[in-house]
Amino acid sequence: MYLRGSIWNSGLFAAVLFLGSLPLSGWEIKSFDGHDYVPLGETATFYGLGEEASPASGSKKLHGGNREITAVRNSREIIIDGVKHWLAFPVIEEGGRLFVSRLDLGKTIDPAFRPTLIGGFPAVTTVVLDPGHGGKDNGARSPYEQEKNFALDVARRVRDRLQKSGVRVLMTRNNDSFIELQERAAFANRLKNVIFVSIHFNAMDTNQSANGFEVFCVTPRGAPSTAYEQTRLRDMVEENGNEHDLHSFALANTVYHAMLGKTDMTDRGVKRARFAVLRLAGVPAVLIEGGFLTNSGDARNIASKQWRDNYASAIATGILEYKKLAEQKIAPREISSYRHPESAPSSVAAAAAKPAAIPGVALRELPE
Ligand SMILES: [Zn+2]
Repeated sequence: MYLRGSIWNSGLFAAVLFLGSLPLSGWEIKSFDGHDYVPLGETATFYGLGEEASPASGSKKLHGGNREITAVRNSREIIIDGVKHWLAFPVIEEGGRLFVSRLDLGKTIDPAFRPTLIGGFPAVTTVVLDPGHGGKDNGARSPYEQEKNFALDVARRVRDRLQKSGVRVLMTRNNDSFIELQERAAFANRLKNVIFVSIHFNAMDTNQSANGFEVFCVTPRGAPSTAYEQTRLRDMVEENGNEHDLHSFALANTVYHAMLGKTDMTDRGVKRARFAVLRLAGVPAVLIEGGFLTNSGDARNIASKQWRDNYASAIATGILEYKKLAEQKIAPREISSYRHPESAPSSVAAAAAKPAAIPGVALRELPE
C-alpha cells in the first residue's frame, strides 16, 4: 500500500525503516558523474510535501506545514527548514527535473528532516568543550582579542549554563595552554556517553567582508569536504569520526539552529570537513565557528561580553536540545521556533516523532 499527501506518511515510512530489511523499491535511481541520484520530486512525495518550481532561478521548493526544503540546480547549497546545508554533490537538473544525490539524501536531507528517526544515539552524560587553540597557538585575531581567549571565554560560559542544567562538563583546556589536536580528540575518546564540541572563531584575511556563523561535522566517507569540489582518494577512508556521522550531523544541525535562532548572524551553513578533531573523535563531534574576527561587524559583536553570553546561551540550548533528541527522541527546536516561539511545533516533525507501530505496511524505504 502506498499512501500519499498525509502528514502520517513519514511515520509510516518510519515503520518500514525500523522493520529494516525490506527490499529497496520504487525509487528511480540515476547516475550522474558516477554518483547515484534520486528525483527531488520523489523526495517530496516521500515526505508528503508539495512542490513549487521557479524555473527562472532553477530552484524548487518543497513544503508542507512549516517544513521546507529549497534546492537549486547545479548548487551544493540547500536550505532545509530555514537553514543552509552543504551537500556533497551538486543538485542536477535533467529534463526539467531536479535530482539530489543518494548520499546527500541519506546523510544530510533525511537526518535534518527526520532527526527522531536516527538510531543508535549514545546518551549524553558528559559534554566535552574544546576551546580552540591556546598557548603558543593564538589562532586568529581581531583588533580586540585573540581567538584563543575568546574561545575559552565562550566555552566557560557554555559550561556554566550546562552545569546549571545538571550536565557534567569537561574542558580540554581551562587556561592558556597548548594542546595537540590529537590529544583533544583522545580526551573525549577515553569517556563514555560523551559529545565533543570544539569552539572557534573564523578569519579570512583576503576578504574582510566574509562574516557569519558556520558549523562543521565530519565529512561522510566517499564525499568531498565542503571546501573541495572533487572527490579525492583519501575521501574513501573510513575515519574514526564516521562511526557517528548521523549523530554528529544531528548535533551540528541542532546547535546551529539555536545559534542562528538566538542571534542575528549570517548563515554560512552546516558544512563538512575532516578537521583532525572531527576525524579522530570516535564520539558525536562538531566544530563551531562563531563569526569572523577579520570582519568589523562580527569582531565588534564578539568583543562584547553581552553578545558572547547570548551566543554561549545559544550553544548550550542547542546542546540540551540534542540531549533530548538523543535520549528521549524529542524533535529539536528549529530556527523558526526560536525566532517565533508562539508558532506551533512542526506537524511533520511531530508525526515523525511518534513511535511507528504499524507493522506489515509495505511502503518504500529510503534508498540508502
Ligand atoms: Zn580556530
